[in-house]
Amino acid sequence: MMFGNSIIGHLSLVEQFRRIIETERFAQAYLLCGPAGVGQFHFALEFARAVNCRESQGEADCRCLSCQKLLRYNHPDIRIFMPLPFEIMRLFDKKDNEVFYQQVNNLILQRIEKPYESLEYPKMSSLSIEIVRWIKREAQVSPVEGKKKIIILDRIEEMSLPAANAFLKILEEPLNDVFFILITSQLSSLIPTIISRCQIYQFRRLDLEAERQIAAKLIKKTCSPFLLSLSRGSIERLLKLLSDEDLPQLRSTVLQGIGHFVEGDPGGIVEWGEKMQSFFSQHRTINPWQSFCSILLFFYYDIFSALTLLDNEHFQNQDFKEELTLFSKKTELSVVIEAMIQIQRVQQALQQNIQPGIAFYFLLSKLSMIHLRRMNDATV
Ligand SMILES: [Zn+2]
Repeated sequence: MMFGNSIIGHLSLVEQFRRIIETERFAQAYLLCGPAGVGQFHFALEFARAVNCRESQGEADCRCLSCQKLLRYNHPDIRIFMPLPFEIMRLFDKKDNEVFYQQVNNLILQRIEKPYESLEYPKMSSLSIEIVRWIKREAQVSPVEGKKKIIILDRIEEMSLPAANAFLKILEEPLNDVFFILITSQLSSLIPTIISRCQIYQFRRLDLEAERQIAAKLIKKTCSPFLLSLSRGSIERLLKLLSDEDLPQLRSTVLQGIGHFVEGDPGGIVEWGEKMQSFFSQHRTINPWQSFCSILLFFYYDIFSALTLLDNEHFQNQDFKEELTLFSKKTELSVVIEAMIQIQRVQQALQQNIQPGIAFYFLLSKLSMIHLRRMNDATV
């Protein structure tokens, strides 16, 4: 069995690492970079598992002792370091060792079990020079069970400068049967001397199909297309969106707005504009303005589908199908197309850092104009 059969997406990287495992010519350090939440940590774990697996190359459900130990994080040859919550690092400073190691182990286990979600605490510590000393001690111990000692460093951009310099010294020393896997979403924050000592592998955003497959595996249900689009190829973002309690309210409020537009109800539109503004100021929906535009666009897309009698499967918002079909009967294709063009323009403007409040009122007036003009034409 070959490496990577449990990795979805990143096909060419899987190919490259397959060759590394087959030739057994390991570099001293691999640097996995690219946008956050697309699966670098999972990839690093799978690579580490494959290198030390006793039966295959880390087949997805391998029962060998080495693979089982890695998944329980008690494999002596695979160590993981990452920025830790401030509260826990304080125990480290106090040399309250037993409690400290226990808590760290629990967090790392949690990270292994949910490899697409990085730890989030109000206050996180950097990867300090003390941690680097700990890494050094680990690196000096040769593998005891596996082929290689593998040290995974997650979010290495969180390394302080003195720590980074100390770490560089470790990379410069010859080590026996030890290699590092470094992970970052901010390559430009690393010191160039570290980068130059690594083999660099660039991860990209997951394509829609890969993301759909991973989501189906992780949450065991199909994800709506609009959520997949909002997450922009990051599983971490997708999972956050799924647990975002404000999102359903945002969707139903946006839907009400479209109702006012297609009815040609200026009073309702103004009221809705105020309601949206207060939503934006009160709620913590992830990236509210981009979410708003995407939701709006997907609703219009469905009205478009209803008007052009596209197949049912093209419907993005199955849960609001009835409302959207009704809206389609009160408007016409040219209006919907024009509205979609305007929403996309505002989306682009938002990416170029236009002030969201201005973008919102611009869009509101454009959509009003497009819809109300159609109403006026109809009454003439
Ligand atoms: Zn195995």
